[in-house]
Amino acid sequence: MTTTTNPVTAAASVEKKLFQNRYLVDSSRPHIVVTPHEKPSKGLLSLLNACPANCYSRNDAGQVEISVDGCLECGTCRVLCESSGEITWNYPRGGYGVMFKFG
Ligand code: SF4
Repeated sequence: MTTTTNPVTAAASVEKKLFQNRYLVDSSRPHIVVTPHEKPSKGLLSLLNACPANCYSRNDAGQVEISVDGCLECGTCRVLCESSGEITWNYPRGGYGVMFKFG
């Protein structure tokens, strides 16, 4: 017998689980910064879909921005765009960042 997963229900379930996490944002020192740009590259645009926490968005001018509130520190954006210099990525200072809730 095979079971199928409803993608809508699964997505809602992931959001529900992410909501369990807690974040302490270091507002004076965001740990990820998008390099100022006029027009976003393909790499930057890919972050809109690649970030599992939906931290990346586009502003009214079409530039890619980040809100680090909710960042899981997974490193996906670091792998995709740090080497090109399009973002700078550091772990948050001690005591800040995501606090995962298990169970
Ligand atoms: Fe999103 Fe992961 Fe990058 Fe945080 S580290 S902004 S969760 S892709």
